[in-house]
Amino acid sequence: MARLYRFAVSSALLLQSLACASPEPCLNGLCQFTRNKLASRTVANELGPQLSANCNIYGPNDTQFGSCTARYDPFFTPKIQMVVQPATEEDVPKIVEYANANGVPFLAMARRHGMTSTLSEFDGMQIDMSLLDKIEIQPDGKSVILGGGVFAKNIMEKLWNAGYVTSSGSTSCVGLLGPALGGGRGRLEGYYGVVSDSFLKLNVVLANGTAITVSETEHPDLFWAMKGAGHNFGVVTSLEMKIYPRGVDTWYYKTYIWTQDKLEAVFEASNNFHNDGNHAGHHLKEMAFNMGSYTIISSISETEGVIFWSFVYRGSKEEAQPYLDAFDAIEAVSTEDGNVPYPEIPGVSGTGMNSAMCDYGLNHVHYPAGLKVWNVTTQRQIYDLYNEKIAQYPEFQRTTVNMEDYSHEGVNAIDPDTSAYPWRDRGLLSFIAVTYDPNPSLDAAAIAWAKETRDLWNAGAPDLLPSTYVNYAHGDESTESMYGYEPWRLEKLRGLKAQYDPDNLFSYYNPIIPNLNPRSTHEENFQGRKIGAKSRGRGQ
Ligand SMILES: Cc1cc2nc3c(=O)[nH]c(=O)nc-3n(C[C@H](O)[C@H](O)[C@H](O)COP(=O)(O)OP(=O)(O)OC[C@H]3O[C@@H](n4cnc5c(N)ncnc54)[C@H](O)[C@@H]3O)c2cc1C
Repeated sequence: MARLYRFAVSSALLLQSLACASPEPCLNGLCQFTRNKLASRTVANELGPQLSANCNIYGPNDTQFGSCTARYDPFFTPKIQMVVQPATEEDVPKIVEYANANGVPFLAMARRHGMTSTLSEFDGMQIDMSLLDKIEIQPDGKSVILGGGVFAKNIMEKLWNAGYVTSSGSTSCVGLLGPALGGGRGRLEGYYGVVSDSFLKLNVVLANGTAITVSETEHPDLFWAMKGAGHNFGVVTSLEMKIYPRGVDTWYYKTYIWTQDKLEAVFEASNNFHNDGNHAGHHLKEMAFNMGSYTIISSISETEGVIFWSFVYRGSKEEAQPYLDAFDAIEAVSTEDGNVPYPEIPGVSGTGMNSAMCDYGLNHVHYPAGLKVWNVTTQRQIYDLYNEKIAQYPEFQRTTVNMEDYSHEGVNAIDPDTSAYPWRDRGLLSFIAVTYDPNPSLDAAAIAWAKETRDLWNAGAPDLLPSTYVNYAHGDESTESMYGYEPWRLEKLRGLKAQYDPDNLFSYYNPIIPNLNPRSTHEENFQGRKIGAKSRGRGQ
C-alpha cells in the first residue's frame, strides 16, 4: 500500500474541506469547536505526517470509504465522517489525540457487526482497526499476541494449524474484541469460560490518548472492567490471550430440521439435555454448543417455520451419540452429520463466512433474553407468533428466532466477581433478528415483533431478572440488565469511568453512563457552535 494520502482528491472535496474547517484550527490543544466535518484531505495533511507509512485516511468521496464503512446491520448506523486506518499500534494514540484536539468523536471498529441502537448516536471518526491483524503464537505455546482488529476465522485457522485453539465468538466473520470486551460467548466456553476469561493482558489507548498495559497486575481494576464492559474504556491495540492444545483432530457435528409438530418434544429433550439449566456434571464440555432457530426453508414451506438445530461435539460421533439419542428419536425432516476440523465447524453449523450470518446489508432488528431453561409453552407462543408475522409481513421471511445453548462448565468455574461479565448463570441465550431489506415503512412493525418476542421469553421466566447480553442488546434495555443488578457492579464501573474516561468519550456502545447529549455533535454543532454537554467534553 502506498503512503496514506490515498484520498481521491477532487476539487469538490477540496471545497468541502475549506468550507467545513473550523475558523480557528485548534491542533495542539483542546478545541472549542468541533471540526467534525474535516475533509479527509485536511485530516491527511494535518494528521497524516504524524502517522506511520501504511496508514490510510478515507473520506466519503474516496472509493474505499464504502467498503470500510459497510455494516452487517445497517438498521442502526453510526455516522462516519472519515475513516482512519492505523497501521501500527503507535498510530492509535496519535489518532486519538488528534481527534480530541479537534473535538471529533472517535470510535474503534473491526468487523462492523455492532448492532446496538446506541451506535447511531455516533457521528465522527471511525478508527478502522483492520490493519492491526497480527496473530503471533508465543514460543512457550501458552499464549498468542493478537492485533486489535483480528477476527474469529483467522484466529481459529492459524491456531488450529499450529496445534492450538483459543476462545472466540462462534461466527467466523465477527471480530474478536467486539464480542470479547462484552464477555464473548463461543464454542469453547465449556472449557475455558467466556472469551475474556482467556485475556492475559491488553494494550489500551485511553480517552486522553495515553497508551497503557492492563492485566492482573497492571491497572487490575480496569482489567476487571475490560472483561465484560470493555467497550466503555478504551481502544485495544493488541492483547495477549491464553491458548490451549487443540486436542482432537476433528469435531463431530449434526444438524436436524424438524417440523413444528415436534416443537414440544425438541424443547423437552433440550431441557433434559442441559438438566434444566444445571449443566454441571450433565451437559459435558465436549458437547460444546448447540443452537437452533425458527426459520423459513422455502423448499419445505413458505408459510410455516421449521425448527433447525445444530449440535457440535469435540470428539467422535460414537462419543457424542449418547447425548444425541434423545434428539434422534424425534423424527426429523432431514439430518446431516460429519467430522471436520474445528475451523470448519462454523461452515457446517450455519455461522461460516459463506453463511447468511455473515452477509452484510440487511436489517436485523433484534432483542435478546438470557435464560436457564426453555419454557416450552413460551417457545410455542413465540413460534406461533413467528408464523403469524411472516404471514402478515412476507418481507420478513428471512427472520430467525434463535436459541443458543452453550456448555457452561468453564464459565461456571470462574468466580463471577472477578470480571465485569455478569451473566455466568445464564446458559441459554436467545434472540430474535427480524430480517429484511432496509425499508423504513417496516421498521415499527419489526421493532414491535422483536420486542413482543423478547417479552414473551422474559414473561416465561418469572423467577429471573431480565438479562441482556451486552453484545446482543437492542440498546434501549436498562443498564442493570446489561451490566448486572448487584449495585456494586455499576458503582465500580462508574468509578472507573470517572478515573479513566471522565469525559465519557467511549459512550456509543451500550454505555455505562448514558450519552446525555445524544446527537449533540450532529448538525447544530457542525455549524461551529460550541459542543454541548459533558458527554462530549473534549470540546469544552
Ligand atoms: C452475525 C453475528 C454473529 C455473532 N456471533 C457472536 C458470537 O458468537 N459470540 C458473541 O459473543 N457475540 C456474537 N455476536 C455479537 C458481537 O459480539 C457484536 O456484534 C460485536 O460488537 C461485533 O464485533 P465486530 O468487531 O464484528 O463489530 P464492530 O462494529 O467493528 O465493533 C463493535 C464495537 O466493539 C468495540 N471494538 C471493536 N474493536 C475494538 C478495539 N480494538 N478496541 C476497542 N473497542 C473495540 C467498539 O465499541 C465497536 O463499536 C454476533 C453478532 C453478529 C451480527
